[in-house]
Amino acid sequence: MKIAVVGTGYVGLVTGTCFAETGNNVICVDIDKNKVDKLSSGQITIYEPGLEKLFLRNQKEGRLHFTTSLADAVKDAKIIFLALPTPPGEDGSADLKYILGVADDLGKIIKEYKVIIDKSTVPVGTAEKVHAAVAKNATVAFDIVSNPEFLREGVAVDDFMKPDRVVIGTTSEKAKKVMNDLYAPFVRQGNPIIFMDEKSAELTKYAANSFLATKITFMNEIAQLCERMGADVDMVRKGIGSDERIGKRFLFPGIGYGGSCFPKDVQALVKSSTEADYDFKILNAVMDINEKQKLHLLPKIKAYFNNDLKGKKIALWGLAFKPNTDDIREAPALYMIDALLKEGASVAAYDPEAMNNVRTVLGTSITFCEGQYDALKDADILIIATEWSEFRTPDFDRITKLLKHKAIFDGRNLFDLKHMEEMGFYYVSVGRKTIGSNN
Ligand code: NAD
Repeated sequence: MKIAVVGTGYVGLVTGTCFAETGNNVICVDIDKNKVDKLSSGQITIYEPGLEKLFLRNQKEGRLHFTTSLADAVKDAKIIFLALPTPPGEDGSADLKYILGVADDLGKIIKEYKVIIDKSTVPVGTAEKVHAAVAKNATVAFDIVSNPEFLREGVAVDDFMKPDRVVIGTTSEKAKKVMNDLYAPFVRQGNPIIFMDEKSAELTKYAANSFLATKITFMNEIAQLCERMGADVDMVRKGIGSDERIGKRFLFPGIGYGGSCFPKDVQALVKSSTEADYDFKILNAVMDINEKQKLHLLPKIKAYFNNDLKGKKIALWGLAFKPNTDDIREAPALYMIDALLKEGASVAAYDPEAMNNVRTVLGTSITFCEGQYDALKDADILIIATEWSEFRTPDFDRITKLLKHKAIFDGRNLFDLKHMEEMGFYYVSVGRKTIGSNN
């Protein structure tokens, strides 16, 4: 099949590459010329495990192309995916200007039947708006389909190639058949393609992300209780996670969720709810708690230094909002850096993939280090903000030699408490007892 993918970011590039991998002819279009030039010359623009290999192979075999021209991209493609940004507007609702702008252009361009598929995360009712925007100028028949994407950055290729489920919102039998054929190679193991109406599909995506954000936040509140009551959140997590109704995943407490999706999607669902005359109380609480959770370690760090961080040098491991990505959107580490700098501390940071992205936002206000141990040189303490695998079993002797204070503030609960106690660290984590004393 011939497919156009509009928007070549995290979702668009993975979508385009994975559809090429199953033998389709894919052309990806983006307004960012620099990005298109790089991709056309075989340079991948995002870090996503496993993606580069597929990207290079499919490009070499002539199934994956890039352009800045929407007209060229959609000319021969029967199927058009929209993988465009839907950032929060000033009032928190999803800004549809990218989607509706492209829909408007498509109406003028298309000359034969097309299936236009919305892969971006969009509020309920967007399919109708996209339909109206295309219909304004279109002279041919078309269908609008809602096909929300559930991939997770860091494991996006696996998620796309072997999805738990594919959700497709359409009432058109013709579009249904096209979508069924397109996704057949991805559901060979029996995972379902779930067909529904457009509105239900749109809400499914928001409901999924909001539920997961709530699950994390619930555990962060349990962690708060553990700290106050002397319980250990790791034990509680294992205790409840073994109940099949609850499940083991998304129960890890930490310094809050970030990323390009959870924060904006929870906010957008709250906004849509308000517009539908419903006060979504749980989600308001989730947003409020998560904001505070990002700075959960700060008062503990301040207390360690008798409330004075001026002149302190803080080593920070991890900048990406989660491991295995270079995405820093809404990353808790950035909130932490901002707070530390305001307190008069300096920050020496290391992240395996996200440093270039942070450099473009923070410039020279922090020091970027070549390796995780370089960040520790002359540093007073270490903070861990992202659970990259390489941080999990570090050389503790080296940490001890390099740090001025043998103190680690761990926002991701990477280390065993007993081990930290035996090694004589001052060790603060989330929802577990503090090891050592700062006197
Ligand atoms: P992104 O910002 O990484 O990529 C969007 C791309 O669209 C950019 O390359 C941008 O240059 C391009 N673009 C903007 N306007 C354009 C136009 N008029 N024509 C062509 N290209 C244009 O965004 P993303 O993370 O890929 O997210 C896209 C959508 O998918 C969002 O709605 C997001 O909520 C949703 N989503 C994201 C993820 C994720 O993990 N990133 C997962 C599921 C769903």
